[in-house]
Amino acid sequence: MSRSQATVDLAAIRHNAGVLRDAAPGTELCAVVKAHGYGHGEVAAAHAAIQGGATILGVARVVEGCRLRNAGLDVPIWVFSEPEEREFDDAVDADLQPAVYSLAAVEAAGEAAARSATGMSVHLKIDTGMHRVGAALDDAAALARRVDEHPSLVLGSVWTHLAVADDPAASSTEIQLDRFDIAVASIEAAGIDVARTHAANSAGAHAWPRAHRDVVRCGISLYGLAP
Ligand SMILES: *Cc1c(COP(=O)(O)O)cnc(C)c1O
Repeated sequence: MSRSQATVDLAAIRHNAGVLRDAAPGTELCAVVKAHGYGHGEVAAAHAAIQGGATILGVARVVEGCRLRNAGLDVPIWVFSEPEEREFDDAVDADLQPAVYSLAAVEAAGEAAARSATGMSVHLKIDTGMHRVGAALDDAAALARRVDEHPSLVLGSVWTHLAVADDPAASSTEIQLDRFDIAVASIEAAGIDVARTHAANSAGAHAWPRAHRDVVRCGISLYGLAP
């Protein structure tokens, strides 16, 4: 039987977090540690990224967020996919901050959060062109209003995901950001305060200053790879 072993240099992750801080000055860094920290071990990677300046952790699923909480990580943890309705209780218990983009999820989040003393922040995701997941532009203001109407929910941010930010010339990234601006403006025009917005992944942090906004969400660059 042959065995292979990978050695992870946590000082490098710490250093890379600092480089990303410098690449997107004035923003917060959300260290993306989904998929076991891209295979590096999510708990150790999270600690190293926080030492390097990250203030938020990002994961894809509620179970991943719970694992980080159970390991003692105490910074805000964002969940990028909208949880199943039955998962919101776990999200509240572990003090996670999930994405929402459907009315059903907003209602489920509101009910789960109402059972807790602390309430819950949720992050409204807008589909600006990846044709994957997120609220349609036309639905953004109504969804934000429903979040606002739930006394136990806080609209933590409004965000989107860029499809091809690794291409610095892609006009589709400009179009996505234009759409995102329209969605945010529509929410603000409805009288709802948008505390924070974010759009950039690693490629966006490096190549799209226009995408920096309040937070950059970086995975691949944290682990030393070019996007
Ligand atoms: C995975 C992920 C990221 C990180 O993307 P990288 O290209 O690895 O930096 C950022 N945001 C969301 C929503 C993600 O799912």
